[in-house]
Amino acid sequence: MARTWDGRAGAEAVGATGYRGCVFYWRQRQEPEAERYGVEWGFTDRHGGVSQGQYGSLNLGAGVADDPAAVTENRSRVAQALGLAPTNLRFMSQQHGCAVHTVQPDQERSGAPDVDGIVARGSSHGVAALVADCTPVLFVDRSVGLVAAAHAGRPGMMAGVVPATVQRLRDLGAVSLEAIVGPSICGRCYEVPLSMREAAGEVSAVTPTVTWTGTPAIDVAAGVVEQLAELGVPCSWVPGCARESDDLYSYRGEGQTGRYAAVVRLLPPLGGESA
Ligand SMILES: [Zn+2]
Repeated sequence: MARTWDGRAGAEAVGATGYRGCVFYWRQRQEPEAERYGVEWGFTDRHGGVSQGQYGSLNLGAGVADDPAAVTENRSRVAQALGLAPTNLRFMSQQHGCAVHTVQPDQERSGAPDVDGIVARGSSHGVAALVADCTPVLFVDRSVGLVAAAHAGRPGMMAGVVPATVQRLRDLGAVSLEAIVGPSICGRCYEVPLSMREAAGEVSAVTPTVTWTGTPAIDVAAGVVEQLAELGVPCSWVPGCARESDDLYSYRGEGQTGRYAAVVRLLPPLGGESA
């Protein structure tokens, strides 16, 4: 499938929604077909929002001591860019674990679930995973109409949040999943103690690596991509390092900072959406 890796790919949609900034680090829209869902998916950047200071400007994280009103406005802008009502873009209260939540559209919204994977059926709701170095993963099944977002940092990758999310999707009927792994801190920038590298290596043999200066490091995203391959889920990997890019938030690079997000929503098939 044709893809663009242009970091400015969101500019057109940003203009269409009437505010300035970039909003999307990477974005792709695949149009619906007769009996196949379309999809809007992307990874936000740190531009085009209203947060100030170290959170400037599109911080989407609610748990990082930013002004809650600014976060609400920023989340609203991203939802609108996806064509969603703000309350229909669902976020998680992430725990660095492997629990997965399935969105119940008819249920009253009662706060963000304490999970690291979130799944939704149909086109009414989008889902989001927040990161600032951790690896964000998006899933789509365009034939049955399922989407998911997962937050995989080092602990989550090791705990198996990616297999758990894939299992939930398959339990719900997914038959043709595809995934996109977003930008995160790269292996060169993720220095860890030797013992931590060894522990990660026991879970995923592709994760142990070295930093730019040769000290022990972990490539979490490589572990995630390998897990997807082992699960038989075709995936693409969007290039970019959160710590090295001025367009992304990096906890390791900045300490107190904002969060960017992986976001995905379905577009109904042209022939209509079955309930
Ligand atoms: Zn890097």
